Amino acid sequence: MNAYDFDLLVIGGGSGGVRAARMAAQRGVRVALAEALGQDGLGGTCVNLGCIPKKLYSYAAHFAEAFEESHGYGWEGPAPTLNWETLKSNRAREIARLNGVYANLLRHSGVTLLYGYAQLQDPHTVRLATLNGDGSPGHTQHSAERILIATGGTPHVPHFQGREHVITSNEVFDLKPFPKRLLVVGGGYIACEFASIFNGLGAQVTQLYRGDQILRGFDDEVRHFAAAEMQKTGIDLRLNTGVVRIHRENDGLHTLLENGNQITVDDVLYATGRVPNVAGLGLEQVGVAQDAQGAVLVNDTYQTNVPSVYALGDVTARVQLTPVALGEAMKLVDHLFGPPPGKAPRSMGYDNIPTAVFTHPNIGTVGDTEAQARAKYGRVTVFRSEFKALKHTLSGSTERTLMKLVVDSATDRVVGLHMVGAEAGEIVQGFAVAMKAGATKAVFDSTLGIHPTAAEEFVTMREPVPTPPAQ
Ligand SMILES: Cc1cc2nc3c(=O)[nH]c(=O)nc-3n(C[C@H](O)[C@H](O)[C@H](O)COP(=O)(O)OP(=O)(O)OC[C@H]3O[C@@H](n4cnc5c(N)ncnc54)[C@H](O)[C@@H]3O)c2cc1C
Repeated sequence: MNAYDFDLLVIGGGSGGVRAARMAAQRGVRVALAEALGQDGLGGTCVNLGCIPKKLYSYAAHFAEAFEESHGYGWEGPAPTLNWETLKSNRAREIARLNGVYANLLRHSGVTLLYGYAQLQDPHTVRLATLNGDGSPGHTQHSAERILIATGGTPHVPHFQGREHVITSNEVFDLKPFPKRLLVVGGGYIACEFASIFNGLGAQVTQLYRGDQILRGFDDEVRHFAAAEMQKTGIDLRLNTGVVRIHRENDGLHTLLENGNQITVDDVLYATGRVPNVAGLGLEQVGVAQDAQGAVLVNDTYQTNVPSVYALGDVTARVQLTPVALGEAMKLVDHLFGPPPGKAPRSMGYDNIPTAVFTHPNIGTVGDTEAQARAKYGRVTVFRSEFKALKHTLSGSTERTLMKLVVDSATDRVVGLHMVGAEAGEIVQGFAVAMKAGATKAVFDSTLGIHPTAAEEFVTMREPVPTPPAQ
Protein backbone atom coordinates (compact mmCIF):
# COMPACT_ATOMS: atom_id res chain seq x y z
CA MET A 1 0.00 0.00 0.00
CA ASN A 2 1.54 3.34 -1.10
CA ALA A 3 1.37 6.14 1.44
CA TYR A 4 1.09 8.79 -1.32
CA ASP A 5 -0.88 9.17 -4.56
CA PHE A 6 2.37 9.69 -6.51
CA ASP A 7 6.11 9.20 -6.01
CA LEU A 8 6.79 12.52 -7.75
CA LEU A 9 4.44 15.40 -8.47
CA VAL A 10 5.90 18.01 -10.83
CA ILE A 11 4.40 21.51 -10.79
CA GLY A 12 4.86 23.18 -14.19
CA GLY A 13 4.83 21.70 -17.68
CA GLY A 14 7.73 23.72 -19.11
CA SER A 15 11.19 22.64 -20.26
CA GLY A 16 12.38 21.40 -16.85
CA GLY A 17 9.09 19.97 -15.59
CA VAL A 18 8.26 17.97 -18.71
CA ARG A 19 11.77 16.51 -18.93
CA ALA A 20 11.83 15.56 -15.24
CA ALA A 21 8.34 14.00 -15.37
CA ARG A 22 9.09 11.95 -18.51
CA MET A 23 12.48 10.72 -17.33
CA ALA A 24 11.16 9.81 -13.88
CA ALA A 25 8.19 7.91 -15.35
CA GLN A 26 10.60 5.99 -17.58
CA ARG A 27 12.32 4.76 -14.38
CA GLY A 28 9.01 3.16 -13.39
CA VAL A 29 7.98 5.59 -10.65
CA ARG A 30 4.45 7.03 -10.37
CA VAL A 31 4.57 10.59 -11.70
CA ALA A 32 2.00 13.38 -12.07
CA LEU A 33 2.53 16.73 -13.76
CA ALA A 34 0.37 19.77 -12.99
CA GLU A 35 0.14 22.53 -15.60
CA ALA A 36 -1.88 25.67 -14.87
CA LEU A 37 -2.69 26.44 -18.52
CA GLY A 38 -3.91 22.98 -19.48
CA GLN A 39 -2.60 21.29 -22.63
CA ASP A 40 -2.05 24.76 -24.20
CA GLY A 41 0.62 25.41 -21.58
CA LEU A 42 2.62 22.23 -22.16
CA GLY A 43 6.16 23.06 -23.22
CA GLY A 44 6.07 26.14 -20.98
CA THR A 45 7.68 29.44 -21.82
CA CYS A 46 10.11 28.01 -24.36
CA VAL A 47 7.45 26.45 -26.57
CA ASN A 48 4.63 28.94 -26.09
CA LEU A 49 6.14 32.35 -25.42
CA GLY A 50 9.91 32.04 -25.75
CA CYS A 51 12.55 30.24 -27.78
CA ILE A 52 10.33 28.61 -30.41
CA PRO A 53 7.91 31.37 -31.44
CA LYS A 54 10.76 33.89 -31.17
CA LYS A 55 12.98 31.86 -33.49
CA LEU A 56 10.10 31.43 -35.97
CA TYR A 57 9.62 35.21 -36.02
CA SER A 58 13.38 35.65 -36.33
CA TYR A 59 13.34 33.45 -39.47
CA ALA A 60 10.48 35.60 -40.78
CA ALA A 61 12.49 38.76 -40.16
CA HIS A 62 15.59 37.42 -41.92
CA PHE A 63 13.60 37.03 -45.16
CA ALA A 64 13.47 40.84 -45.43
CA GLU A 65 17.28 40.96 -45.64
CA ALA A 66 17.36 38.01 -48.01
CA PHE A 67 14.95 39.72 -50.44
CA GLU A 68 17.03 42.89 -50.34
CA GLU A 69 20.34 41.10 -50.72
CA SER A 70 19.10 38.94 -53.59
CA HIS A 71 19.22 41.92 -56.00
CA GLY A 72 23.04 41.82 -55.98
CA TYR A 73 22.75 38.21 -57.09
CA GLY A 74 20.57 39.11 -60.04
CA TRP A 75 17.12 38.57 -58.61
CA GLU A 76 14.70 41.25 -59.76
CA GLY A 77 11.22 42.43 -58.88
CA PRO A 78 9.56 44.31 -56.05
CA ALA A 79 10.12 43.15 -52.46
CA PRO A 80 7.25 40.98 -51.15
CA THR A 81 5.22 42.37 -48.26
CA LEU A 82 4.58 40.73 -44.90
CA ASN A 83 1.16 39.32 -44.03
CA TRP A 84 1.35 39.56 -40.22
CA GLU A 85 -1.92 37.68 -39.74
CA THR A 86 -0.54 34.71 -41.73
CA LEU A 87 2.65 34.66 -39.69
CA LYS A 88 0.71 34.78 -36.41
CA SER A 89 -1.73 32.05 -37.35
CA ASN A 90 0.96 29.75 -38.79
CA ARG A 91 2.97 30.19 -35.61
CA ALA A 92 -0.08 29.45 -33.44
CA ARG A 93 -0.82 26.30 -35.44
CA GLU A 94 2.74 25.03 -35.03
CA ILE A 95 2.76 25.77 -31.29
CA ALA A 96 -0.57 23.94 -30.83
CA ARG A 97 0.96 20.97 -32.66
CA LEU A 98 3.92 21.03 -30.26
CA ASN A 99 1.58 21.23 -27.22
CA GLY A 100 -0.07 18.04 -28.50
CA VAL A 101 3.30 16.35 -29.04
CA TYR A 102 4.24 17.12 -25.42
CA ALA A 103 0.89 15.80 -24.11
CA ASN A 104 1.39 12.54 -26.06
CA LEU A 105 5.00 12.14 -24.94
CA LEU A 106 3.98 12.54 -21.31
CA ARG A 107 0.97 10.21 -21.54
CA HIS A 108 2.97 7.56 -23.39
CA SER A 109 5.65 7.72 -20.69
CA GLY A 110 2.95 7.01 -18.10
CA VAL A 111 2.76 10.50 -16.58
CA THR A 112 -0.63 11.49 -15.13
CA LEU A 113 -1.52 14.93 -16.48
CA LEU A 114 -3.31 17.25 -14.04
CA TYR A 115 -4.59 20.53 -15.44
CA GLY A 116 -4.97 23.35 -12.92
CA TYR A 117 -3.13 25.90 -10.80
CA ALA A 118 -1.11 24.12 -8.11
CA GLN A 119 -0.58 25.30 -4.57
CA LEU A 120 1.44 23.55 -1.87
CA GLN A 121 -0.67 22.64 1.17
CA ASP A 122 2.05 20.86 3.15
CA PRO A 123 5.40 19.21 2.26
CA HIS A 124 3.60 16.29 0.57
CA THR A 125 0.28 17.74 -0.60
CA VAL A 126 -0.70 19.88 -3.58
CA ARG A 127 -4.09 21.49 -4.07
CA LEU A 128 -5.06 22.06 -7.68
CA ALA A 129 -7.50 24.84 -8.61
CA THR A 130 -9.54 23.44 -11.51
CA LEU A 131 -12.77 24.08 -13.35
CA ASN A 132 -15.78 21.80 -12.89
CA GLY A 133 -17.65 20.45 -15.90
CA ASP A 134 -20.11 23.41 -15.72
CA GLY A 135 -17.23 25.93 -15.69
CA SER A 136 -17.52 26.73 -11.97
CA PRO A 137 -14.30 26.74 -9.92
CA GLY A 138 -13.38 23.50 -8.19
CA HIS A 139 -10.33 21.84 -6.77
CA THR A 140 -8.60 18.51 -6.35
CA GLN A 141 -5.96 17.43 -3.87
CA HIS A 142 -2.98 15.12 -4.51
CA SER A 143 -0.25 13.74 -2.29
CA ALA A 144 3.28 12.85 -3.34
CA GLU A 145 6.42 11.58 -1.70
CA ARG A 146 8.35 14.31 -3.50
CA ILE A 147 7.21 17.56 -5.12
CA LEU A 148 9.20 19.33 -7.84
CA ILE A 149 8.61 23.04 -8.45
CA ALA A 150 9.34 23.92 -12.07
CA THR A 151 7.08 26.94 -12.50
CA GLY A 152 9.54 29.09 -14.48
CA GLY A 153 9.59 32.87 -14.60
CA THR A 154 7.43 35.74 -15.73
CA PRO A 155 8.21 39.22 -17.17
CA HIS A 156 8.69 42.05 -14.69
CA VAL A 157 7.53 45.58 -15.50
CA PRO A 158 8.55 48.31 -13.03
CA HIS A 159 6.00 50.77 -11.65
CA PHE A 160 5.68 54.09 -13.47
CA GLN A 161 2.93 56.35 -14.79
CA GLY A 162 1.34 54.68 -17.82
CA ARG A 163 2.55 51.17 -17.05
CA GLU A 164 -0.87 49.83 -18.05
CA HIS A 165 -0.17 50.74 -21.70
CA VAL A 166 2.91 48.55 -22.12
CA ILE A 167 3.18 44.96 -23.28
CA THR A 168 5.71 42.23 -22.46
CA SER A 169 7.15 39.30 -24.38
CA ASN A 170 3.99 37.38 -23.39
CA GLU A 171 1.81 39.64 -25.56
CA VAL A 172 4.20 40.60 -28.34
CA PHE A 173 3.63 37.53 -30.51
CA ASP A 174 -0.06 38.27 -31.01
CA LEU A 175 -0.11 42.05 -31.41
CA LYS A 176 -3.04 43.33 -33.37
CA PRO A 177 -2.42 45.21 -35.59
CA PHE A 178 1.28 45.01 -36.53
CA PRO A 179 3.10 47.85 -34.72
CA LYS A 180 4.45 50.26 -37.32
CA ARG A 181 6.35 52.11 -34.58
CA LEU A 182 7.65 49.98 -31.69
CA LEU A 183 9.55 51.10 -28.61
CA VAL A 184 11.54 48.31 -26.96
CA VAL A 185 12.70 49.02 -23.42
CA GLY A 186 15.59 46.93 -22.10
CA GLY A 187 19.10 45.91 -23.07
CA GLY A 188 19.14 42.17 -22.36
CA TYR A 189 19.02 39.46 -24.97
CA ILE A 190 15.21 39.31 -25.11
CA ALA A 191 14.93 43.08 -25.73
CA CYS A 192 17.65 42.98 -28.39
CA GLU A 193 16.11 40.00 -30.16
CA PHE A 194 12.66 41.59 -30.37
CA ALA A 195 14.19 44.89 -31.54
CA SER A 196 15.89 43.00 -34.40
CA ILE A 197 12.84 40.88 -35.18
CA PHE A 198 10.36 43.76 -35.43
CA ASN A 199 12.88 45.91 -37.28
CA GLY A 200 13.30 43.08 -39.79
CA LEU A 201 9.54 42.60 -40.08
CA GLY A 202 9.21 46.25 -41.08
CA ALA A 203 8.50 48.20 -37.88
CA GLN A 204 10.31 51.41 -37.06
CA VAL A 205 12.07 50.31 -33.87
CA THR A 206 13.50 52.45 -31.09
CA GLN A 207 15.33 50.62 -28.32
CA LEU A 208 15.99 52.28 -24.97
CA TYR A 209 18.44 51.09 -22.39
CA ARG A 210 19.34 52.73 -19.09
CA GLY A 211 22.98 51.57 -19.10
CA ASP A 212 26.01 52.50 -21.21
CA GLN A 213 25.75 49.52 -23.54
CA ILE A 214 23.30 46.69 -24.31
CA LEU A 215 23.89 42.99 -23.53
CA ARG A 216 25.51 43.31 -20.10
CA GLY A 217 27.41 40.14 -19.24
CA PHE A 218 28.57 39.51 -22.82
CA ASP A 219 32.13 40.25 -24.00
CA ASP A 220 32.56 44.05 -24.19
CA GLU A 221 33.80 44.00 -27.75
CA VAL A 222 30.85 41.82 -28.76
CA ARG A 223 28.46 44.25 -27.08
CA HIS A 224 29.83 47.28 -28.93
CA PHE A 225 30.12 45.47 -32.24
CA ALA A 226 26.59 44.00 -32.04
CA ALA A 227 25.11 47.37 -31.03
CA ALA A 228 26.76 49.04 -34.03
CA GLU A 229 25.55 46.31 -36.41
CA MET A 230 22.01 46.52 -35.02
CA GLN A 231 22.03 50.28 -35.55
CA LYS A 232 23.18 49.75 -39.14
CA THR A 233 20.07 47.63 -39.73
CA GLY A 234 17.93 50.63 -38.76
CA ILE A 235 17.29 50.24 -35.01
CA ASP A 236 17.32 53.61 -33.26
CA LEU A 237 19.27 52.61 -30.13
CA ARG A 238 19.23 55.15 -27.32
CA LEU A 239 21.48 54.44 -24.35
CA ASN A 240 21.63 55.95 -20.86
CA THR A 241 17.94 56.79 -20.81
CA GLY A 242 14.66 55.26 -19.74
CA VAL A 243 10.93 55.94 -19.68
CA VAL A 244 9.46 58.58 -17.33
CA ARG A 245 5.79 58.23 -18.29
CA ILE A 246 3.49 57.08 -21.08
CA HIS A 247 0.03 58.33 -22.02
CA ARG A 248 -2.28 57.40 -24.85
CA GLU A 249 -3.37 59.97 -27.46
CA ASN A 250 -5.22 59.46 -30.74
CA ASP A 251 -1.97 59.14 -32.67
CA GLY A 252 -0.35 56.58 -30.36
CA LEU A 253 1.49 56.21 -27.07
CA HIS A 254 3.29 59.42 -26.11
CA THR A 255 6.39 58.42 -24.21
CA LEU A 256 8.47 60.87 -22.23
CA LEU A 257 12.08 59.81 -21.83
CA GLU A 258 14.47 60.58 -18.96
CA ASN A 259 16.65 62.63 -21.35
CA GLY A 260 13.67 64.96 -21.98
CA ASN A 261 12.86 63.62 -25.46
CA GLN A 262 9.37 62.45 -26.33
CA ILE A 263 8.53 59.76 -28.85
CA THR A 264 5.19 58.53 -30.15
CA VAL A 265 4.79 54.85 -30.93
CA ASP A 266 2.09 52.23 -31.49
CA ASP A 267 3.35 49.80 -28.83
CA VAL A 268 5.87 49.79 -26.00
CA LEU A 269 7.48 46.42 -25.28
CA TYR A 270 9.04 46.14 -21.83
CA ALA A 271 11.76 43.49 -21.66
CA THR A 272 13.45 44.63 -18.48
CA GLY A 273 13.88 41.30 -16.73
CA ARG A 274 12.01 38.29 -15.46
CA VAL A 275 11.05 37.21 -11.94
CA PRO A 276 10.42 33.71 -10.57
CA ASN A 277 6.85 32.48 -11.04
CA VAL A 278 5.93 31.84 -7.40
CA ALA A 279 2.72 33.83 -6.86
CA GLY A 280 0.05 31.74 -5.17
CA LEU A 281 2.27 28.68 -4.99
CA GLY A 282 2.02 28.43 -1.20
CA LEU A 283 5.79 28.43 -0.62
CA GLU A 284 5.56 30.63 2.49
CA GLN A 285 2.89 28.39 3.98
CA VAL A 286 5.16 25.34 3.69
CA GLY A 287 8.30 27.28 4.67
CA VAL A 288 10.24 26.86 1.41
CA ALA A 289 13.17 29.31 1.53
CA GLN A 290 13.37 31.96 -1.22
CA ASP A 291 15.77 34.80 -2.00
CA ALA A 292 14.75 38.47 -1.96
CA GLN A 293 13.39 38.23 -5.55
CA GLY A 294 11.34 35.13 -4.74
CA ALA A 295 13.69 32.59 -6.38
CA VAL A 296 13.48 29.19 -4.71
CA LEU A 297 16.77 28.35 -2.96
CA VAL A 298 18.14 24.87 -3.63
CA ASN A 299 21.27 22.85 -2.91
CA ASP A 300 23.48 21.03 -5.47
CA THR A 301 20.82 18.39 -6.02
CA TYR A 302 17.94 20.89 -6.37
CA GLN A 303 16.52 20.13 -2.92
CA THR A 304 14.97 23.01 -0.98
CA ASN A 305 15.18 23.43 2.78
CA VAL A 306 11.95 21.35 2.95
CA PRO A 307 13.40 17.88 2.24
CA SER A 308 10.51 16.55 0.12
CA VAL A 309 10.37 19.69 -2.08
CA TYR A 310 12.72 20.25 -5.02
CA ALA A 311 13.00 23.08 -7.57
CA LEU A 312 14.82 23.67 -10.85
CA GLY A 313 14.82 25.81 -13.97
CA ASP A 314 13.94 29.51 -14.12
CA VAL A 315 12.11 29.49 -10.76
CA THR A 316 15.54 29.10 -9.14
CA ALA A 317 16.78 32.12 -11.17
CA ARG A 318 20.22 30.71 -11.90
CA VAL A 319 20.95 30.38 -15.62
CA GLN A 320 17.64 30.96 -17.37
CA LEU A 321 17.94 28.87 -20.52
CA THR A 322 16.03 25.83 -21.74
CA PRO A 323 19.04 23.49 -22.05
CA VAL A 324 19.97 24.36 -18.45
CA ALA A 325 16.47 23.46 -17.18
CA LEU A 326 16.67 20.20 -19.18
CA GLY A 327 20.13 19.37 -17.82
CA GLU A 328 19.01 20.07 -14.27
CA ALA A 329 15.96 17.84 -14.71
CA MET A 330 18.07 14.91 -15.94
CA LYS A 331 20.57 15.33 -13.12
CA LEU A 332 17.75 15.40 -10.54
CA VAL A 333 15.99 12.29 -11.91
CA ASP A 334 19.26 10.31 -11.92
CA HIS A 335 19.93 11.48 -8.37
CA LEU A 336 16.45 10.54 -7.07
CA PHE A 337 15.64 7.40 -9.07
CA GLY A 338 18.99 6.24 -10.45
CA PRO A 339 20.46 6.58 -13.96
CA PRO A 340 19.22 4.54 -16.94
CA PRO A 341 20.58 0.94 -16.88
CA GLY A 342 24.30 0.80 -17.68
CA LYS A 343 24.73 4.58 -17.57
CA ALA A 344 26.53 6.79 -15.04
CA PRO A 345 24.43 9.43 -13.22
CA ARG A 346 24.34 12.63 -15.23
CA SER A 347 26.09 15.75 -13.99
CA MET A 348 25.24 19.33 -14.82
CA GLY A 349 28.10 21.77 -15.36
CA TYR A 350 27.49 25.49 -15.28
CA ASP A 351 30.81 26.36 -16.98
CA ASN A 352 31.06 26.88 -20.71
CA ILE A 353 27.30 27.11 -21.29
CA PRO A 354 27.03 28.08 -24.95
CA THR A 355 24.37 30.59 -25.86
CA ALA A 356 23.09 32.57 -28.82
CA VAL A 357 21.31 35.86 -29.25
CA PHE A 358 19.09 35.94 -32.31
CA THR A 359 19.70 39.55 -33.21
CA HIS A 360 20.58 40.68 -36.75
CA PRO A 361 23.32 39.60 -37.05
CA ASN A 362 23.27 36.71 -34.55
CA ILE A 363 25.60 36.45 -31.58
CA GLY A 364 27.07 33.15 -30.42
CA THR A 365 29.23 32.78 -27.36
CA VAL A 366 30.76 30.17 -25.07
CA GLY A 367 33.14 30.49 -22.13
CA ASP A 368 34.70 33.56 -20.59
CA THR A 369 34.52 37.10 -21.83
CA GLU A 370 37.93 38.72 -22.26
CA ALA A 371 37.45 40.64 -18.97
CA GLN A 372 36.44 37.48 -17.07
CA ALA A 373 39.41 35.57 -18.48
CA ARG A 374 41.85 38.34 -17.49
CA ALA A 375 40.42 38.32 -13.95
CA LYS A 376 40.59 34.51 -13.72
CA TYR A 377 43.85 33.66 -15.46
CA GLY A 378 45.89 36.88 -15.40
CA ARG A 379 47.70 36.52 -18.72
CA VAL A 380 45.46 35.85 -21.70
CA THR A 381 46.07 36.01 -25.43
CA VAL A 382 43.29 37.33 -27.64
CA PHE A 383 42.77 36.54 -31.31
CA ARG A 384 40.31 38.65 -33.25
CA SER A 385 39.06 38.78 -36.79
CA GLU A 386 36.59 41.23 -38.31
CA PHE A 387 35.54 40.92 -41.94
CA LYS A 388 32.82 41.19 -44.55
CA ALA A 389 31.35 37.73 -45.16
CA LEU A 390 31.78 36.39 -48.71
CA LYS A 391 28.01 36.50 -49.22
CA HIS A 392 28.04 40.27 -48.82
CA THR A 393 30.62 40.89 -51.51
CA LEU A 394 27.69 40.72 -53.95
CA SER A 395 24.67 41.27 -51.69
CA GLY A 396 25.35 44.95 -51.14
CA SER A 397 24.92 44.53 -47.39
CA THR A 398 27.39 46.37 -45.18
CA GLU A 399 27.07 43.76 -42.42
CA ARG A 400 30.37 42.71 -40.85
CA THR A 401 31.34 39.67 -38.83
CA LEU A 402 33.38 39.57 -35.61
CA MET A 403 35.13 36.48 -34.27
CA LYS A 404 37.18 36.35 -31.14
CA LEU A 405 39.14 33.72 -29.24
CA VAL A 406 40.36 34.22 -25.68
CA VAL A 407 43.23 31.91 -24.71
CA ASP A 408 44.71 31.27 -21.26
CA SER A 409 48.38 32.06 -22.01
CA ALA A 410 49.73 29.68 -19.36
CA THR A 411 47.94 26.54 -20.60
CA ASP A 412 47.11 27.54 -24.22
CA ARG A 413 43.51 26.48 -23.51
CA VAL A 414 40.78 28.36 -25.41
CA VAL A 415 38.62 29.74 -22.59
CA GLY A 416 36.35 32.09 -24.52
CA LEU A 417 34.93 32.01 -28.04
CA HIS A 418 32.66 34.75 -29.35
CA MET A 419 31.06 35.57 -32.66
CA VAL A 420 28.77 38.22 -34.11
CA GLY A 421 27.65 37.18 -37.56
CA ALA A 422 25.28 35.05 -39.60
CA GLU A 423 24.39 31.69 -38.00
CA ALA A 424 26.64 32.39 -35.01
CA GLY A 425 24.55 30.07 -32.81
CA GLU A 426 24.89 27.19 -35.26
CA ILE A 427 28.65 27.73 -35.53
CA VAL A 428 29.40 28.17 -31.83
CA GLN A 429 27.53 24.98 -30.83
CA GLY A 430 30.24 22.81 -32.44
CA PHE A 431 33.09 24.80 -30.93
CA ALA A 432 31.43 24.45 -27.51
CA VAL A 433 32.15 20.71 -27.70
CA ALA A 434 35.82 21.39 -28.40
CA MET A 435 36.00 23.77 -25.45
CA LYS A 436 34.24 21.31 -23.14
CA ALA A 437 36.93 18.83 -24.15
CA GLY A 438 39.59 21.40 -23.14
CA ALA A 439 40.85 22.21 -26.65
CA THR A 440 43.99 24.34 -26.79
CA LYS A 441 44.79 27.01 -29.35
CA ALA A 442 47.30 24.55 -30.83
CA VAL A 443 44.40 22.11 -31.44
CA PHE A 444 42.39 24.88 -33.12
CA ASP A 445 45.46 25.69 -35.28
CA SER A 446 45.92 22.07 -36.32
CA THR A 447 42.24 21.76 -37.37
CA LEU A 448 41.63 22.24 -41.08
CA GLY A 449 39.04 24.81 -42.07
CA ILE A 450 35.98 24.13 -44.19
CA HIS A 451 36.39 26.42 -47.15
CA PRO A 452 34.80 28.77 -47.99
CA THR A 453 32.89 29.38 -44.76
CA ALA A 454 32.93 32.08 -42.13
CA ALA A 455 33.46 29.43 -39.44
CA GLU A 456 36.91 28.51 -40.82
CA GLU A 457 38.15 31.83 -39.47
CA PHE A 458 38.06 30.32 -35.96
CA VAL A 459 40.80 27.86 -36.94
CA THR A 460 42.89 30.22 -39.05
CA MET A 461 43.50 33.15 -36.69
CA ARG A 462 47.24 33.21 -36.12
CA GLU A 463 48.25 36.73 -35.01
CA PRO A 464 47.23 37.70 -31.48
CA VAL A 465 45.87 41.14 -30.70
CA PRO A 466 48.77 43.15 -29.14
CA THR A 467 48.66 42.82 -25.33
CA PRO A 468 47.42 45.97 -23.57
CA PRO A 469 50.23 47.71 -21.63
CA ALA A 470 48.50 47.11 -18.25
CA GLN A 471 49.02 43.33 -18.46
C1 LIG B 1 11.02 35.71 -25.02
C2 LIG B 1 11.90 34.60 -24.51
C3 LIG B 1 12.82 34.02 -25.35
C4 LIG B 1 13.63 32.98 -24.89
N1 LIG B 1 14.54 32.45 -25.75
C5 LIG B 1 15.33 31.44 -25.34
C6 LIG B 1 16.26 30.86 -26.24
O1 LIG B 1 16.38 31.25 -27.39
N2 LIG B 1 17.02 29.84 -25.79
C7 LIG B 1 16.92 29.36 -24.50
O2 LIG B 1 17.62 28.42 -24.14
N3 LIG B 1 16.05 29.91 -23.62
C8 LIG B 1 15.25 30.94 -24.02
N4 LIG B 1 14.35 31.47 -23.14
C9 LIG B 1 14.32 30.97 -21.74
C10 LIG B 1 13.54 29.67 -21.63
O3 LIG B 1 12.26 29.82 -22.19
C11 LIG B 1 13.43 29.29 -20.16
O4 LIG B 1 14.73 29.26 -19.60
C12 LIG B 1 12.79 27.92 -19.97
O5 LIG B 1 11.50 27.90 -20.54
C13 LIG B 1 12.71 27.60 -18.46
O6 LIG B 1 12.04 26.39 -18.26
P1 LIG B 1 11.28 26.09 -16.90
O7 LIG B 1 10.90 24.65 -16.96
O8 LIG B 1 12.11 26.55 -15.76
O9 LIG B 1 9.98 27.00 -16.88
P2 LIG B 1 8.88 27.35 -17.98
O10 LIG B 1 9.25 26.86 -19.32
O11 LIG B 1 8.61 28.81 -17.83
O12 LIG B 1 7.59 26.52 -17.52
C14 LIG B 1 6.91 26.79 -16.35
C15 LIG B 1 5.50 26.23 -16.48
O13 LIG B 1 4.90 26.21 -15.19
C16 LIG B 1 3.54 26.56 -15.30
N5 LIG B 1 3.11 27.04 -13.97
C17 LIG B 1 3.52 28.15 -13.32
N6 LIG B 1 2.95 28.21 -12.10
C18 LIG B 1 2.17 27.10 -11.98
C19 LIG B 1 1.34 26.60 -10.94
N7 LIG B 1 1.24 27.23 -9.75
N8 LIG B 1 0.66 25.43 -11.16
C20 LIG B 1 0.81 24.76 -12.34
N9 LIG B 1 1.58 25.20 -13.34
C21 LIG B 1 2.26 26.35 -13.17
C22 LIG B 1 3.54 27.63 -16.38
O14 LIG B 1 2.24 27.77 -16.96
C23 LIG B 1 4.58 27.07 -17.35
O15 LIG B 1 3.98 26.25 -18.33
C24 LIG B 1 13.50 32.50 -23.56
C25 LIG B 1 12.56 33.07 -22.70
C26 LIG B 1 11.77 34.10 -23.16
C27 LIG B 1 10.76 34.73 -22.24
